Amino acid sequence: PFDVLVVGGGPAGASAAIYAARKGVRTGIVADRFGGQILDTATIENFISVNRTEGPKLAASLEEHVKDYEIEVMNLQTATGLEKKDLFEIELENGAVLKSKSVILSTGASWRNVGVPGEAEFRNKGVAYCPHCDGPLFEGKDIAVIGGGNSGIEAAIDLAGIVNHVTVLEFASELKADSVLQDRLYKLPNVTVVKNAQTKEITGTDSVNGITYIDRDTNEEHHIELAGVFVQIGLVPNTNWLGNAVERNNFGEIIVDKRGATNVPGVFGAGDCTDSAYKQIIISMGSGATAALSAYDYLGKTE
Ligand code: FAD
Repeated sequence: PFDVLVVGGGPAGASAAIYAARKGVRTGIVADRFGGQILDTATIENFISVNRTEGPKLAASLEEHVKDYEIEVMNLQTATGLEKKDLFEIELENGAVLKSKSVILSTGASWRNVGVPGEAEFRNKGVAYCPHCDGPLFEGKDIAVIGGGNSGIEAAIDLAGIVNHVTVLEFASELKADSVLQDRLYKLPNVTVVKNAQTKEITGTDSVNGITYIDRDTNEEHHIELAGVFVQIGLVPNTNWLGNAVERNNFGEIIVDKRGATNVPGVFGAGDCTDSAYKQIIISMGSGATAALSAYDYLGKTE
């Protein structure tokens, strides 16, 4: 069995695994996509001491750093359950079971869905979530961005440089993005902002050809013809697979204390899947280190 098994291979998991391995304990890391969200990130300018880098490049460095240690890396494996028996058991989608004395949960977060007809049907056929990844597919076309928070407005600004026209649909009566971003957005000639817009349906045949929304002021239905819809309404933690194994809050985030401990002794959490106040690379890495040091303390106490 492992001493420390890390579930999730983003910045939090990589950091946790390295900190654990450096203590000389048997460490494994299982991830369904090593690198995590940074694989979908273009430019990173706030990873302190690195002026500017790209997500995939940082992901490659994480992997290289992890491989520098005796860490068993199990990539492209999805965890489907956590159970406490003599040891902790992590079940994988392929039927295998991994056993460990302690577990660090660092499964991060994924894009939130709007949940309207057409969204699932046209996913990757005009419905997109990652502007940096999929923006170039819509060069010269008309698109919509659903969501007027920071990620939505950043996406709209980026995409406006590539596509013909961007319509931003915001459910509330005001955009929630930072004012600097809003100022930049409103200076762009090819962006329309629609507030109080409730998305009703994403329409199409083989791929997306439009979006229908309801103006919440007048209850009138509107349809816009376009080729793509970027959904930018936040992230949900990847924690449903845990069921009731550890305590989670109303958002589904794993509740951890300042040592990264969950309500189950021996199970720790780190990064975007937890109730940490902010979700950033540097914060995830810090919490991964904290969780690993706590797991090491826990092993010392139970042996
Ligand atoms: P994640 O990066 O989400 O990694 C989770 C890991 O867990 C992945 O390996 C995933 O495959 C794995 N996993 C999930 N479920 C399972 C499962 N059931 N079984 C096994 N493995 C599983 N932050 C910044 O600091 N600066 C930025 O400029 C920045 N830009 C961003 C741009 C975009 C477009 C996005 C989406 C995020 C950005 N962030 C940025 C936020 C940053 O990427 C996250 O805070 C950080 O990646 C969180 O790390 P994490 O390890 O907690 O989770």
